[in-house]
Amino acid sequence: MLVAGNWKMNLDLAAARQLTSGVVSAIGDPSPVDVAICPPFVDLDATFSILHGSGIRMGAQNMHASESGAFTGEISAAMLRAVGCHYVILGHSERRQIFGETNAGVSEKTIQARKYRLVPIVCVGESLDERNAGDHESVVESQVRESLEGVAIEASSELVLAYEPVWAIGTGQTASGDQVEEMHGHIRDIVEDLFGKEIGVGIAILYGGSVNPGNAQDLFSREDVNGGLIGGASLNAEKFAAIVAAAKSVQ
Ligand code: PEP
Repeated sequence: MLVAGNWKMNLDLAAARQLTSGVVSAIGDPSPVDVAICPPFVDLDATFSILHGSGIRMGAQNMHASESGAFTGEISAAMLRAVGCHYVILGHSERRQIFGETNAGVSEKTIQARKYRLVPIVCVGESLDERNAGDHESVVESQVRESLEGVAIEASSELVLAYEPVWAIGTGQTASGDQVEEMHGHIRDIVEDLFGKEIGVGIAILYGGSVNPGNAQDLFSREDVNGGLIGGASLNAEKFAAIVAAAKSVQ
């Protein structure tokens, strides 16, 4: 079980320090659940110092696929590794929709992240129109297959998938347990096909989209749901800790 908080473009340095300290004390010992927080780039260094020794890991929200060079405003995998990141979120729907990221681009980033031993959290998910048209399974299948094109892993722990239906992100409209279970089963079949049964069966598939302390336990207890990617609720230490507690209760 992995519970990861995506802070998005929120919290300046002082606020990030405060929330990180709050998360550390509200969660205590995270085991046996894997817990991570993903602050904005400029907060990573300070966050890492506060997380040190807590058992909570850190991730970034994006990165560039190249090694280094003339990419003004971008951040490399090596830089993320150097400030203590364990995870990196790739292909979040906000990156796909607002910044035009493609499956091919996500695959390049995923390959580069692995080169630096970052664990990519690769996000996929259909829009409301795609679900209403009954295309959600094929859309997500293409996203998974194309975003993981050329990606090689040797163990399940080297890759995380996050199913985040776009219509459920930040809307308060959570996907139902049955919808989540159905899609996670579909994604499990795809990763078993891509990486073999032994590795595919152990890859964590997170659900994301309006997870809160009230719905987390039901979602996390569903087949093939191995935790959550948490947006809004991760900005509140008590709510985030309650979601981690829900994950512990079903682990
Ligand atoms: C997200 O953006 O990854 C997310 C799941 O957001 P929220 O929990 O706010 O819906």
